Amino acid sequence: MPSKQRKIAIMGYRSVGKSSLSIQFVEGQFVDSYDPTIENTFVKTTKVNNQEYDLKLVDTAGQDEYSILPTQYSMDIHGYVLVYSITSPKSFEIIQIIYDKLLDMTGKVHVPVVLVGNKKDLHMDRVVTQDEGRKLADSWKAVFLEASAKQNEVTSKKCVADIFHTILMEIEKANGNTVQE
Ligand code: GDP
Ligand code: MG
Repeated sequence: MPSKQRKIAIMGYRSVGKSSLSIQFVEGQFVDSYDPTIENTFVKTTKVNNQEYDLKLVDTAGQDEYSILPTQYSMDIHGYVLVYSITSPKSFEIIQIIYDKLLDMTGKVHVPVVLVGNKKDLHMDRVVTQDEGRKLADSWKAVFLEASAKQNEVTSKKCVADIFHTILMEIEKANGNTVQE
């Protein structure tokens, strides 16, 4: 089977770990300080359910409640990873606004989305509960995951790869394909 080309945008408030998650997935390492203003596109080939995907990850510079989303974020993007930090109530508040703007811009009622609560390694600083995250994702009919770009293997499972594999499967479902869970 030929590989499928997929483009995914990573969005969310500043400093939530968008770049760290992208770099952890693409390079398998945690970089402690990455220029927050850079918008970068990473590429990686990955295999899910025996299908190869050529992935392009658009690591956006971040959004807030005032951001006007550039139309290129809707043009050829197949799915979205929306990230907040479990240590930042502001980042959680903002994510609904970003989601609304996304639907507005794409003109769709449903887009493939994975909602990610990042920095789950920072237990002591947690302010957003897992339940709050899950409820929000449910209201969008999206998938919810918590992750840590820093401690990718907090649990035995690699949570960062899980994010990107999950969004690929959500895109398949949106295309009407059945997928093995
Ligand atoms: P971005 O602005 O959303 O791209 O965020 P960055 O990826 O640049 O990360 C912002 C800051 O949070 C940096 O200092 C990162 O090292 C840190 N960071 C990112 N992800 C995690 C994580 O999962 N755990 C912890 N403890 N720190 C993180
Ligand atoms: Mg960044």
